[in-house]
Amino acid sequence: MPEGNEIHRWAERHEAAFGGKVVRADGPQGRFTDTDVIDGRKLLRVMAVGKHLGYVFGKDRILHIHLGLQGDFTDGSGPLPEVKGALRLRMWNAAAVKLPVAPGESRRHAWYSDDDGTGNIDAKRVAWVELRGPMDCSIYTNAKWDKLRERLGPDPLGVDGKGGDDPAKAFAKIMKSKKPIGALLMDQSVIAGIGNIYRAELLFRARLSPFTPGNVVSEQTLKAIWKDALPLMRAGMVDRRIVTTEPKDRPSAKGKNTKARPDKDEVHYVYRRNGQPCFVCGTTVMKREMAARNLFWCPVCQAA
Ligand SMILES: [Zn+2]
Repeated sequence: MPEGNEIHRWAERHEAAFGGKVVRADGPQGRFTDTDVIDGRKLLRVMAVGKHLGYVFGKDRILHIHLGLQGDFTDGSGPLPEVKGALRLRMWNAAAVKLPVAPGESRRHAWYSDDDGTGNIDAKRVAWVELRGPMDCSIYTNAKWDKLRERLGPDPLGVDGKGGDDPAKAFAKIMKSKKPIGALLMDQSVIAGIGNIYRAELLFRARLSPFTPGNVVSEQTLKAIWKDALPLMRAGMVDRRIVTTEPKDRPSAKGKNTKARPDKDEVHYVYRRNGQPCFVCGTTVMKREMAARNLFWCPVCQAA
């Protein structure tokens, strides 16, 4: 599932591509039938909060997209490609799709890989966007969007405050709860935008056991986690890669080189590293289900 970093990145990218322009839209698959509400209208802006996207086409004309576990976008330049697969929504710019594709400029990306296919095309040259497999793609009224916003906790990448939303509400909820911090960080009504990778890695970086009850975690520790989340999530907006390890902790010489791109198996401390030695202390990294997703942690670095 994409985490908040990716959602904010899509928002920025789609706003750069279509913001202030008239957007055409259709739903080839037949499951999204409200395209007439937005088709032929100007896209005013794209909002992102937590894992939700809101494309504003006017009052009560907000296209809400939640990618869920399976959803993903593809974009490109030049004419609209042939309809393939379960295509929920297409959005395009009528003038831009008449332009030719420069060789090598547009290609479909590998499904859910590190490569999101956007590295070789500038957002401003994007002529069309395809959406497949989202959990939700529907029209929201302003009231419905506001209600969603109220339901969600502060977002580390949010815009309400400097360096993310104001986290006070999130801290208050956590410090009152007996639930483990590993579950609280995943609860979108507590903090919006943190998913499974950031949960595991932020807790490791804070050397905090995921089983610690929220009401035992100090405000100082929560502040440190929040402060750590912003640069890590911002870095994850550059491309799909989420890198959470410090060069000094990576075992290989290449990994320690601050200028090199670290290898895939050295980008996370604990996420999906169960059964392997912890980079810091050598103890075997553990895995267990928590909040319906696999949790990874080092039982020594993150002793309760
Ligand atoms: Zn360790």
